[in-house]
Amino acid sequence: MRCTLLGTGDAVGVPAPLCDCEYCEESDPRRRPGLLVETEGGGDGTTVLLDVPPDVTSALHDAGVTDLDAVFLTHGHYDHAAGLSELNHARYERHLLNGPELGHDHPVSDPFSVRVPRSVLQTYATRRPRLVDRLGLTVVPPGERVAVGPLTVEAVRVDHGEPLFPTLGYVVRGPSTEPERGAVDPAVVGYLPDLDAAPDPEAMPVGRFDLLYAEGSVLGAELHADAAALRDGLAPLAADRRVATNVSEHMLRLHTPAVEARGREVGYEVWRDGDAATV
Ligand SMILES: [Zn+2]
Ligand SMILES: [Zn+2]
Repeated sequence: MRCTLLGTGDAVGVPAPLCDCEYCEESDPRRRPGLLVETEGGGDGTTVLLDVPPDVTSALHDAGVTDLDAVFLTHGHYDHAAGLSELNHARYERHLLNGPELGHDHPVSDPFSVRVPRSVLQTYATRRPRLVDRLGLTVVPPGERVAVGPLTVEAVRVDHGEPLFPTLGYVVRGPSTEPERGAVDPAVVGYLPDLDAAPDPEAMPVGRFDLLYAEGSVLGAELHADAAALRDGLAPLAADRRVATNVSEHMLRLHTPAVEARGREVGYEVWRDGDAATV
């Protein structure tokens, strides 16, 4: 499967709103977090999106994605969930069709499932009932495995840092692109943004990850967690590759090459928006 980080930035992205600091001005833009997981097969493959950043429309177009099978939210914060309103428009005839006489015969997207933590559904049920209704939001409890084509997406219980509350991470299993592994020995990807602390390795449903995306406080901008404590906590989760989410030159007061060097020092890759890996 192929994993693309639609956004590598933190809650406000880079550049930060109304900021003219040298780090914002001299860095490439970073969108808010979202991880795209695709099986091989181009348009015929399965496509899952973990978190829906507010800039999801441009991010999906840049990634060449015009069809989603399923969307999963870790939590309801603006930077991880606001793009649901964007995707809602893709399912909304009044916003996309202009009457048969104008020949619009395509734009409303095929249905995609949307699974969210219980806390998100409770909030949206009263505040965004039409969104809940149109997108068919359903709860995914921790420990539940959801099959989407050849992928299996499992929710894991983690703690969100600052503010502290229970939220979800995800473990995705899918056919490995290594021929000798294939579907027999699936590739495993973890997605754990906004952590307060590392989850207990014993509570993880897998013993190792091919690719682990984790809260970028490990780089030193301690927005959600203490950097050293989080790195130590995540170390027992065996992973071939570790990638930092929520990266911000603005918060770190560092230029991009220095952020990337910090990542190498602590064992975390720092990607740019749209970077991808095949596992
Ligand atoms: Zn700045
Ligand atoms: Zn958050």
